[in-house]
Amino acid sequence: MEYKERYKHLNKYLKEKFGERTLKICIDGGFTCPNRDGTISTGGCIFCSQKGAGDLIKYNESISKQVTDYFSSYKSKRANKFIAYFQNFTNTYDTIENLKSKYDSALIDDRIVGLEVATRPDCINEDIVKLLKSYTDKYYVCVELGLQTSNENIGRFINRGYTNIQFTKAVELLNKYQIDVVVHIMVGLPNETFEDIKNIVNFINMHDIQGIKIHSTYVIKNTILADLYFKGEYEPISLEYYLNCLTYIITHISPNIVIHRISADAPKDLLIAPDWNIHKKWVLNGFDKILKEQDLWQGKFL
Ligand code: SF4
Repeated sequence: MEYKERYKHLNKYLKEKFGERTLKICIDGGFTCPNRDGTISTGGCIFCSQKGAGDLIKYNESISKQVTDYFSSYKSKRANKFIAYFQNFTNTYDTIENLKSKYDSALIDDRIVGLEVATRPDCINEDIVKLLKSYTDKYYVCVELGLQTSNENIGRFINRGYTNIQFTKAVELLNKYQIDVVVHIMVGLPNETFEDIKNIVNFINMHDIQGIKIHSTYVIKNTILADLYFKGEYEPISLEYYLNCLTYIITHISPNIVIHRISADAPKDLLIAPDWNIHKKWVLNGFDKILKEQDLWQGKFL
C-alpha cells in the first residue's frame, strides 16, 4: 500500500471534496464556555487556559474584520476555497439569534465553502442543529465535538463537565440532520492507561462519526494541569508512548473517518511540557515510519 493511503488525511479529503486545496480560517467568535463562566464551573477543563482551547489565536477584532483581514493577508493566496472555522471556546453557546448573527458575519466571501464549529456535547440542542442545517444548502457544515476520554472517572478528574451519554446524544442529533461530526480526543490524560485508549476506540466505534482529531496532552502555563505537574502529580507521556497509542487508534477505526489532526499545536510561549510537543514533524514522521515499517493502515485491525 502506498504511504499516502495509509490514513485518510484531512487535506486530501478536502481536496477531493472541493476539487482543490481548501484551507481553514480560524475565527475567534467571542464566545465563552459554560465550564468557565460558572454555569457548570469556573475552573474549566484542567488543561485549558483562559483562552479556551484555541491558544494559537485570540483576536479582538469583529468576526467579519477577522475574515477580511485574512483575505487581505498572504495566507489567502495559498488557496481559492476556505472553511470558516470557529475554534475558541464553545461556539454554539449563545442564543440562536446571536449564533446566526455570528456565523453569518463570517460567511461574507464567495471563496468560503464551509462552516466548521467547535463545541461541547452539552451545548448542542435541536434548535442549534436546525440552525446549522440551514447552512448546508450553500455550505459544507461540520461540528467538532469534545470528548477527550471515554473514561468517566478521568472525565470528572479533568473537569470536562459532561458525560459520555451527553456526547452520544449530541452525535445522534447531528447524525439525524446529517451534519458531519469530528470527535476530539486526547492521549496522555492524568491516570490514563493503555486500556483507556482501547476503550475510547471501542466507544468511538459505537458512534457514527466522520472525522477525528487526536492529540497528546500537554501542559501549558496558567492551568490546573500545570499546578499538578509542578507538584509532581502529573507526568506527561513520552513521544514513543504517544506514537504507540496513535498507532492503536488509527489501526482500529474505520478507514472512512477523516483524520483531522494527529499532533498538538501547543503554543510555544505557553508550553511547559513535554518538550517534544513542539516538534510536530517528530510526530508526523515517527508515525509514518511506524505505519510503513510495520505495514499498517487505518482500520487494518477493525
Ligand atoms: S470545554 Fe473547551 S473551552 Fe471549555 S473549559 Fe473545556 S477545553 Fe476550555
